[in-house]
Amino acid sequence: MIPVDKALQIIVEKSDVIERTETVGLDSANGRILAEDIFSDIDIPPFNKSSMDGYAVISEDLTSLPAELDVIEEIPAGYFPTKRVIKGTASKIMTGAPVSEGADAVVMVENTEDLQGKVKILSKVKKGDNISIKGEDVKKGEKILSKGTKFRCQEISMLASTGNHKVKVLSRPKVSILATGTELVEPDRFPSFGQIRNSNSYSLFAQCQSAGANPEYLGISVDEEKDLMGKIKKGLDSDMLLISGGVSMGDYDFVPSILKEADVKIVFEKVAIKPGKPVLFGTKGKTLVFGMPGNPVSTMVIFELFVKPALKKMSGDTANCNFKGKARLNKDFKRKRAERQEYIPAAISCSGGKTTAIPVESHGSADMMSLTKANGLLMIPTGVDKINAGEICDVMWFSAADPSYMPA
Ligand code: AMP
Ligand code: MG
Repeated sequence: MIPVDKALQIIVEKSDVIERTETVGLDSANGRILAEDIFSDIDIPPFNKSSMDGYAVISEDLTSLPAELDVIEEIPAGYFPTKRVIKGTASKIMTGAPVSEGADAVVMVENTEDLQGKVKILSKVKKGDNISIKGEDVKKGEKILSKGTKFRCQEISMLASTGNHKVKVLSRPKVSILATGTELVEPDRFPSFGQIRNSNSYSLFAQCQSAGANPEYLGISVDEEKDLMGKIKKGLDSDMLLISGGVSMGDYDFVPSILKEADVKIVFEKVAIKPGKPVLFGTKGKTLVFGMPGNPVSTMVIFELFVKPALKKMSGDTANCNFKGKARLNKDFKRKRAERQEYIPAAISCSGGKTTAIPVESHGSADMMSLTKANGLLMIPTGVDKINAGEICDVMWFSAADPSYMPA
């Protein structure tokens, strides 16, 4: 049995960034990882641009106020000036239009009065006011984004502005998902006595999608060596194979022996963790294999702790993916044995700057219903057998998007 931290370290060491790339359009770039440096084909702004609706003027014309200037033309956005602004004149200009030659500032329309053919200017402007200078944000030819950047809306906006309407991104890791268990039926079936519905495949599918991976479903294998071998071999063609069930000590838990027979190098088979102790990790070439205990809560927790960091690394995503912090426990915690690091589904909330963790009531590691009320996990380290209500403990949120998320 190895400690959780050691298991995680081994997994991350064995996870390599996927080197395949693909080209995507801007409508599918969100969250993807850039596989090339990106340059601008233009200056931004591309011309000296008015940042206000108003009048393009010569600032020195406004030394005494109010000042009256002749309006020589009107420049809507999308048009360009045809007349030079000279002493005593102004051009009416809209936001986004090129500023006339001769003008060195724009007076916003709110500070003017239209006198039909003339304009009364009511406030002064300094040279350069309300003009965005050509190339002040980005110069033509400048590198605007580096390889490895994860696209958010702001990066996608810059891609669009610089004409990069298609971009090369890293391919998502392909993950095969295999459920094992003769008792399992798919969700569209009504289980007969002794059967249960397969839920892990679909929770894993969702977790893979959230982690930026590309899941592929291999179906259910019954607990028989031949069926398992066939499906496992297929899954080994992917970047990662996730197997739920069949890794414990039961007479029909064939997953470890079949993996060995399929030439998977088993790296570890037990971790000092609760839930999920019999978790198995192995490799075949660059393919990573996880065998997860089939109880739905165990499967989910093992994914969050071990599979997600591996997928993030394989995706080239360097952002933090385990959202850890501290919270005050709201009731006493006690346990008899303390040799495993324990993760307890919890509802974590934040109010008045204080973060509180409330363990959700649960009937054990099959009780997925309890997890619908949890937004994270309470972490009890090895060696700790009790925490009193009011004490600060370690927690991990499922998602950084959680409003109660407070980084450690
Ligand atoms: P196992 O790890 O195969 O011993 O399974 C442990 C428990 O999890 C058993 O009660 C199984 O019926 C249940 N289980 C296994 N696989 C799944 C699955 N895909 N969906 C829901 N429950 C499962
Ligand atoms: Mg089983």
